[in-house]
Amino acid sequence: MDDHSETIIAKIKDNNKIEVVRDIFFDCNNCALCCKINEIPVTEKDITRILELGFELDQFLKELSPVLIRSHQKKDSFIKAYILKKKPFVKECVFLDENEKCKIHKYKPLSCCIYPFAVRNDDEGLLVIVHPKSVCTSIDMAVNKKKSNTRKIVEFLLSLEFLE
Ligand code: SF4
Ligand code: SF4
Repeated sequence: MDDHSETIIAKIKDNNKIEVVRDIFFDCNNCALCCKINEIPVTEKDITRILELGFELDQFLKELSPVLIRSHQKKDSFIKAYILKKKPFVKECVFLDENEKCKIHKYKPLSCCIYPFAVRNDDEGLLVIVHPKSVCTSIDMAVNKKKSNTRKIVEFLLSLEFLE
């Protein structure tokens, strides 16, 4: 894999059986790089949770027009999402505080919870993909089976509401 490509690390069959395709090790070091360099999509569910905290839409959405993002539920289908606002000049997420912690940690968007992973629907079931190492500093792609935590990562993703 080069540092700019995505890699499939696991396949999830219909019965939630996990097939590990690639052994990796990931342990987030909280560097906050992903909160600074990415455009973060938020779904309507994410927005509802954030509004309940008392924020107004114009405080955290870049604009009110939606974009389409790939759905994990259905192959080749898309859902509406919005992009999180960045702070002026520094270009980092509006929810990143002065200590580089997320102000809405418990309520953060799903895409933040699953980063640096993504889930795609495919003919064979769900595919778990890892983003390129160049945009996350904690992915080790060169580990042996013993050190790998691919299965644990996938189990965590399966425990999230979005896969229900
Ligand atoms: S919502 Fe929180 S975790 Fe997500 S990009 Fe913003 S600061 Fe980072
Ligand atoms: S870039 Fe990777 S290691 Fe850094 S905070 Fe984001 S997920 Fe964690």
